[in-house]
Amino acid sequence: MRYGWLAAVALGLSTGCMRSHETALVRDAAESMGGPARIASVETLVLEGGGEAFNFGQSKSPGGELPRFTVTELRRVIDFPGGRWRQESLRTPTYVTANPPARQVLGLAGEVAYNLSHTGAATRASARTALHRAAEIYHHPVGILREALGTEANLTNARKEGGRDVVDVGTPSGATYSLHIDGTTKLPVKVVSRTSNPVLGDVLMETEFSDYTETDGLKLPSVITSRLDGDTVAVTRVSATTINGDAGDLGAPADAAAASTEPTVAIEAAEVAKGIWYLTGQSHHSVVAEFQDHLVLIEVPNEARTLAVIAKARELVPGKPLTHAVVTHHHFDHSGGVRAAVSEGLTLIVHRGAEKFVEDVVQREHGTEPDALAKGPKPLILQTVEEEMVLEDEAMSIALYPIDGSPHADTLLMAYFPRHGLLVQADLFSPPAPGAPPPAAYPFAANLIENCNRRGLTIENLLPIHGRMAPMKALLDVAPPAKTSG
Ligand SMILES: [Zn+2]
Ligand SMILES: [Zn+2]
Repeated sequence: MRYGWLAAVALGLSTGCMRSHETALVRDAAESMGGPARIASVETLVLEGGGEAFNFGQSKSPGGELPRFTVTELRRVIDFPGGRWRQESLRTPTYVTANPPARQVLGLAGEVAYNLSHTGAATRASARTALHRAAEIYHHPVGILREALGTEANLTNARKEGGRDVVDVGTPSGATYSLHIDGTTKLPVKVVSRTSNPVLGDVLMETEFSDYTETDGLKLPSVITSRLDGDTVAVTRVSATTINGDAGDLGAPADAAAASTEPTVAIEAAEVAKGIWYLTGQSHHSVVAEFQDHLVLIEVPNEARTLAVIAKARELVPGKPLTHAVVTHHHFDHSGGVRAAVSEGLTLIVHRGAEKFVEDVVQREHGTEPDALAKGPKPLILQTVEEEMVLEDEAMSIALYPIDGSPHADTLLMAYFPRHGLLVQADLFSPPAPGAPPPAAYPFAANLIENCNRRGLTIENLLPIHGRMAPMKALLDVAPPAKTSG
């Protein structure tokens, strides 16, 4: 009994000593914002304002600046104890795109991450997105300090980084958030944690806080800057803050809550010419071409769809191996299947400008959410298209060309089937389905026609990666007349 009592005292003392520095840092940060009690009293925050958002994975060239949206009418509601949030905003693109300004609504309610379309239809986001959005709760000074000040707080690893104090805050889910505290003001200046991205794998998620202002006795940052893998993805400027006000309904929409987080893949295969299959079914289509002794796939949008279209190609022509996959460009929604294609032993064919990008994507760590390549590593076999690449035998012919001067991306390849008068391209012209409203503009069509003319292509039909098969005339009809020189 005595030993037990002594041991308990010793343990208590040593734990107190071990944690005192971390606890002191967190207490100081809380005091600088208005005190631990004030922070603990915050249940909901309504942040209103605007700022900027950036289209992650959609840079014009790999590693280049991200396309930017101006964000207005932003309203972010956070329910800290409920683990729920919802953000509404109006996003206006500042870059060349066919997409008009659009309202965006996204949220999290417990384990359900959801998005609402402009018509109000709810879709459930992936389990990976739900984890990412759950992390957002701790990427705010109130969220991280509520956790750090709690009786169950797990504080470790106090250290200095660049003149700032840093302490790691562990959460019940096992995640760790590094809280950076300004050495002078003692205000939280940054939270860093790890998250995972389908294309890039394990990445750092960083949120910086600045321009603190006081609302009802609580200092909060009015500028919040979010970074992913080093890229700025959002800058939020808060102009109005409401503490514990009317948060509205933060529950998950019933449709989203009832939906599965597993990706569903629907594939319809149509043989549009002898040996050419158009694999449609959802947003991103693929094309399979049959050569004398092998098959070639065009377009690998994401892991689930890529594995499914690879399986479908093998099913359509069981006697011939699928050997190559052509990547239409580096945008994440078109290159998300690169790793899956490598895991299936395919040789990748990419625009010369995407070579480094693909090499980087293939060597990335996917430890948090292992994908097909992480589970079954295979070497990258890569071929690049310089001016032109012709894949040809007696059964099939495909000419791959870089698309020059497109305002959309610098790594675009188009695939031309000279014997069939077919052209495959992504994003430059997406004929809407019959009855669907056409886009407001076709800003990339004229450049596509220029590229086709310069190559002297004779095209009868288009097999676009988005939309539907259409005659070449459909493209010529939407492009503004070419400017005559002289
Ligand atoms: Zn694109
Ligand atoms: Zn696209």
